[in-house]
Amino acid sequence: MRIIVLGAGPTGLGAAWRLAEHGHHDWLLVDAAERAGGLSLSVVDEAGFTWDLGGHVLFSHYRYFDRMMEQALGDAWFEHEREAWVWMRERWVPYPFQNNIWRLPDDDLVRCLEGLVEIHRAPTAAPPANFAEWLQRSFGRGLCDVFMLPYNFKVWAYEPHAMGTTWMGERVATVDLARVLRNLVLRRDDVSWGPNAKFRFPQRGGTGAIWQSLADQLPQERILLGRTVVAIDTAARRLEFSDCSTERYDALISSMPLASTLRMASDLPALRPLAERFVHSSSHIVGVGFEGLPPEALRTKCWMYFPEGETPFYRVTVFSNYSANNVARPGEQWSLMAEVSESPAKPVDQSRLVDDVIAGFRRVGFIGEDTRIVTRWHRRLPYGYPTPWLGRDEVLDQVQPVLESRGILSRGRFGAWKYEVSNQDHSAMQGVEAVDRLLMGTPETTVTGRMNAEPPALAASR
Ligand SMILES: Cc1cc2nc3c(=O)[nH]c(=O)nc-3n(C[C@H](O)[C@H](O)[C@H](O)COP(=O)(O)OP(=O)(O)OC[C@H]3O[C@@H](n4cnc5c(N)ncnc54)[C@H](O)[C@@H]3O)c2cc1C
Repeated sequence: MRIIVLGAGPTGLGAAWRLAEHGHHDWLLVDAAERAGGLSLSVVDEAGFTWDLGGHVLFSHYRYFDRMMEQALGDAWFEHEREAWVWMRERWVPYPFQNNIWRLPDDDLVRCLEGLVEIHRAPTAAPPANFAEWLQRSFGRGLCDVFMLPYNFKVWAYEPHAMGTTWMGERVATVDLARVLRNLVLRRDDVSWGPNAKFRFPQRGGTGAIWQSLADQLPQERILLGRTVVAIDTAARRLEFSDCSTERYDALISSMPLASTLRMASDLPALRPLAERFVHSSSHIVGVGFEGLPPEALRTKCWMYFPEGETPFYRVTVFSNYSANNVARPGEQWSLMAEVSESPAKPVDQSRLVDDVIAGFRRVGFIGEDTRIVTRWHRRLPYGYPTPWLGRDEVLDQVQPVLESRGILSRGRFGAWKYEVSNQDHSAMQGVEAVDRLLMGTPETTVTGRMNAEPPALAASR
């Protein structure tokens, strides 16, 4: 079976890693970019500062993925405890926000509590029609008005009522009223929620170092970089590249955006109109490097959320706190990385974005007038977040079986278009599991939402 793996991000590298482990002899890994890593690569700017494409933190749901990470970087990791905060009403509230509303001004706190009491007094049994309804029923009106609705619009760049409800799982913390009240009475911060309460970060080279190392350990003759696929003949099982060359496959594991696959597959005209229904947002990543040390308030923080309209960003990472080596002169400089979402529903004026971000840093007191800026770096990611739009699952259910019947497994962050399984660990494991399905007939678990920590041992299968 000739297998082509399209895309050398975590999904493609997971697939290639597993193919090499199987000892499979006929496969290729191709990518349009000149470097492996996809959205998880890192960039060093002209001033010598390292940037990820958005604040990437590594955490894992899988033992197999843990082993891959050991093979990538050995023990060259920093371990961090998440310290995440929300900045609003001129104050810090620890994440998860809903557990720590005792830190809000009294009028907001009362609104949040009234909403919580209301939903506990009269819970609604009918399933929520959209994400906004789900938020309302889970958190109450007050928490929604104060935080959930403005924050979610800022991060997704779409109104929550245009989004579905099947994706949330562990991605959104729900609320425990007794715990909220306990924290209020005891005036206690409550921070230890979620799968990323602890995370790892490479000591050097940013997140991209992980994926570059895995790519370096693969047979190099099987990796084709700088090759852009422009058309797919799904009947003949052939890819066409921008230089007019072609490659035949028996099976294709593709992590390019699923909507692009539908547009390129000219022999599947019935699916083509569905490509226009896929919804995504773009991400702007703005990195700013400074001389000196971060202010006291930022010394131990990892990342911060910004629900209010006074700043363009929804999240800022103190990227030099992840590794001192993310700046050119460790110990003498520091860096912030901001994320700004964009969509047709939330346009962004790129010409002033970097200035707006820096003005936002000043407004919230991260930097002063005399802070010396060493570097400014900006990258727009056309595909940032795979939006879980209302009606997504019906479209995926129509599209994926047809592609699979033609030997195409579309997997990964935008290949499967499932935000709930689109982090690095999920993506890499979707690649691993796709290979196991092709070579051993093992059912995939991540893309279908039945995650399994351990794929089958190869020795037993041979
Ligand atoms: C702002 C932001 C923050 C994030 N934070 C985190 C985090 O904290 N933790 C975490 O685990 N994950 C995080 N992620 C997610 C992480 O980046 C993804 O999980 C991962 O990169 C997805 O891997 P992938 O291989 O599926 O897709 P990608 O990384 O997108 O790779 C797809 C590859 O396909 C190639 N390709 C596309 N079209 C073509 C074509 N026509 N021809 C040839 N090649 C093509 C691309 O060049 C690309 O290299 C974040 C993502 C973003 C955008």
